Amino acid sequence: MEKPRRITEAPGIGKKSSEDLLALGVSTLHDMISLRPRAYDDRREERRIRNTSIDDPSISCRITILRHSEFSSKGGRTLKVTATDDDGTRIELLCFNRYFLKTQLRIGSEWYIYGKAMKNRGVYQISSFEIKRTREEAGIGRILPVYPLTGGLTEKLMRNAASYSLMALSPIPDELPQSMYERENLIHHSEAYNFIHFPATMEDAARALNTLAFTELFMMELSVLREKPRGIRKKSLPSAREKKLLKSLPFTLTEDQLKAAEEIREDMDSPVQMNRLLQGDVGSGKTLVAWLTALHAIDKGEQVAFMAPTELLARQHADGAAELLSPLGVRIAFITGSVKGERRRLLLRSLQEGSTDLVIGTHALFSEDVTFKNLGFAIIDEQHRFGVQQRQALMKKGNKADILSMTATPIPRSLALTLFADYSVSVLHSMPKGRIPVKTYLVSESRREEMYKSVGVEFQRGHQAYFVYPRIDDEGEGDLRDVTTMYDFLKEKYPDVPSRLIHSKLPDDEKMQILHDFREKKIGYLVATSVIEVGIDIPDATCIIIEHAERFGLAALHQLRGRVGRSSLPSYCFLVYGPGLTDEAKARLRVMKETNDGFKIAEKDLEIRGPGEMMGDKQSGFLHLKFASLTSDLDLVERARAEAERIISEDRGLLKAENAVLREALAKMK
Ligand code: ADP
Ligand code: MG
Repeated sequence: MEKPRRITEAPGIGKKSSEDLLALGVSTLHDMISLRPRAYDDRREERRIRNTSIDDPSISCRITILRHSEFSSKGGRTLKVTATDDDGTRIELLCFNRYFLKTQLRIGSEWYIYGKAMKNRGVYQISSFEIKRTREEAGIGRILPVYPLTGGLTEKLMRNAASYSLMALSPIPDELPQSMYERENLIHHSEAYNFIHFPATMEDAARALNTLAFTELFMMELSVLREKPRGIRKKSLPSAREKKLLKSLPFTLTEDQLKAAEEIREDMDSPVQMNRLLQGDVGSGKTLVAWLTALHAIDKGEQVAFMAPTELLARQHADGAAELLSPLGVRIAFITGSVKGERRRLLLRSLQEGSTDLVIGTHALFSEDVTFKNLGFAIIDEQHRFGVQQRQALMKKGNKADILSMTATPIPRSLALTLFADYSVSVLHSMPKGRIPVKTYLVSESRREEMYKSVGVEFQRGHQAYFVYPRIDDEGEGDLRDVTTMYDFLKEKYPDVPSRLIHSKLPDDEKMQILHDFREKKIGYLVATSVIEVGIDIPDATCIIIEHAERFGLAALHQLRGRVGRSSLPSYCFLVYGPGLTDEAKARLRVMKETNDGFKIAEKDLEIRGPGEMMGDKQSGFLHLKFASLTSDLDLVERARAEAERIISEDRGLLKAENAVLREALAKMK
């Protein structure tokens, strides 16, 4: 493979500017041509002074110098040059720190100027401007790229570097098979790279961007799909113990749960490694699908690991598994960071020897010292809480163990097609029978009492509640209702209802005890921070009151609301907000009131926050897209995906002559 040519070979790029360029991700000539201008400066038309407006104050035109004068400013004496354009409109050039211009801008000489003019008491003035001898030098008649800058970089240096790189690398070869250009209505890459920097028209710039964005998405899809194993699927039947489990339940599974279990079973029984995402809104019953399919693996003689993001949740799952699976003879273990000493040693040994079938825990599951005899199936609950590395570490524990990742955060289609392209997906669309959608109220200060009354009525019916606050204690920000003071306040409000305080600073044992008591209904309500956010499942809790709701993000609010509405009882979510809401906060609360649909909420979240933020840093690391946008280019994502699928199905090995470019490009991506 040819060595990439360094950017330092471009004239004018020394040590300092090459360091600055590196900060923009540019170290080679090819990086430079792949650097997307952040905007364009359209100087095609001469823009005379009287054509400016407040919205667009830019001028680019010829001027003639009329006279020089001076005025005093903070910096001392400042040169003021009066000039006129070809219309005869006058303008004053305020030459701050540029006294030297006096000798250049001789009276009567002609120049080309560009910059932004301002009208000040009826007189046009300009202080930040460039002035050139010729039209060409001033870029008049052209569209100029505007680059992101850092350090000492200037637009001029960047333009020169781009134009040198384009020339030096010319002819720039095509990056896609010939037939694809026509099919997808793309322009050839040589043109695309030239036009992205120096377009003749804005349409050219758009076509260039379209081609480069398509290419970027297509290559990503192709690399992912090529790695995705193909398997022969055959029908698999539930084992005897699976059937027993189903019979022991007080309810029947939903169609979606059954279908998901079937899909997972088929994956498991096929020779390729499963990488499946089980997506289902909060409360849709993902856990049961996990237990059912865990049994399938165990009955094949494999060990199963179930990983949850918090100790609290891991404990809840361990209790649930004990209740459902122990009677069937499944040997269960529970491991977290706080399991230490002799207990830990014994536990690890049982995993290694294979005398534990199912281990449930937190990320402690993938500590160095944890080894399995035969890990065949790993389940990751609330997968979006884990980083890619953590998931990989768990996968390494087994020899090609099947992976099931569960999430309540619906993956927007653009991400599903890219970041999650190598996953198969099962979806639980429907909720278990008899569920009533949670009713959401937005509560202002003035309606607080009314809310307390409604919650009081629920207590009388024997139902339970969560009160959620954003902080643990009052650390000076008096406006925030913190858990500890509210705990006391609520005690007076509901003197007969037992309650407990729960937050992240409590020892884990205590948290678990509290949750246990809450489940047993020894406690009527919890006063909590967002520790209860994920996964906690208490069917008789029918109210959640979230204070300072405006401080929580959409995803967190949806998760919190998902703590109620988990049985056939009607349930309520009260979002209490403070005064002075920002527009964004208002928008968020409105979304929560209008819909219970996690998918819609996720789409809104994506709109408001963008994909990186939404999926968490840890997962968006892959998404360094230069040209494409996962929020606005969904159409392009779909087309790129379809082309990648087409290529894979026609020529998986990329052996056709036409596809040689792709084979080489993929090799370079590694
Ligand atoms: P999530 O998908 O949010 O993880 P869970 O798996 O915790 O949801 O299930 C929520 C509740 O619904 C649990 O109490 C569970 O026992 C119950 N559940 C699961 N499946 C069904 C079903 N088919 N019918 C009725 N209740 C169900
Ligand atoms: Mg769950």
